[in-house]
Amino acid sequence: MIIAIDGTAASGKSTTAKIVAEKLGFTYLDTGAMYRCVTLAMINAGIRNTDSELINNLLKDLTIDLVENEGNLQILMNNVDVSNEIRSVEVTENVSAVSALKKVRESLVKIQREIAATTNCVMEGRDIGTVVFPNADFKFFLIADSTVRAHRRQKDLQSMGEEMSIEDLEKDINRRDEYDSTREISPLKKAEDAFEIDTTDLNIDGQVSRIIEIVNK
Ligand code: C5P
Repeated sequence: MIIAIDGTAASGKSTTAKIVAEKLGFTYLDTGAMYRCVTLAMINAGIRNTDSELINNLLKDLTIDLVENEGNLQILMNNVDVSNEIRSVEVTENVSAVSALKKVRESLVKIQREIAATTNCVMEGRDIGTVVFPNADFKFFLIADSTVRAHRRQKDLQSMGEEMSIEDLEKDINRRDEYDSTREISPLKKAEDAFEIDTTDLNIDGQVSRIIEIVNK
């Protein structure tokens, strides 16, 4: 069974998807983390978005593993834990442009489909219900007011020792949504048969119960 959770940046997808997966005993797959890994690897290697051949080589050699560790999802890139690094301001600023590259999407979608072929999973991202698994058993699309989302993102950053103003965070969130929604390949959009959940006034428990209720029905 596949549960697809898509939505705008910082709308609560990751935390919600992780808890829903725990409650149902499913594997949780954070596809945003995968796009962030490729972005980090390109930054580390000094590869630009126009360096097609270098990107192809990098994708061939790159391994990404999402490992459960005491209730947390650890992101390993070439066997190194990059869980915090992929959430940095620099990676966040560059990830949308990297995610718009055809080769990058083809490579990561292939991995996402392979993982889901062997396990029940809750997969979270931007194009899961529309492109990766258009026949997913359940589809959800999360949205929330952008100021509320900026506050959530600020909390996440503070827990990693980074500081950014609400104004700048809100600008970044809106810029990322605009980029993700207007790109040519697999743009961010609600699947016609997805349940839309506005998380502006919901806490995590509220978001999780909405989804579990629908799945159990
Ligand atoms: O979910 P998160 O904010 O970590 O995603 C980071 C970026 O990765 C998004 O802004 C988007 O550009 C890209 N992404 C994507 N397709 C997905 C998941 C994420 O293009 N399925």
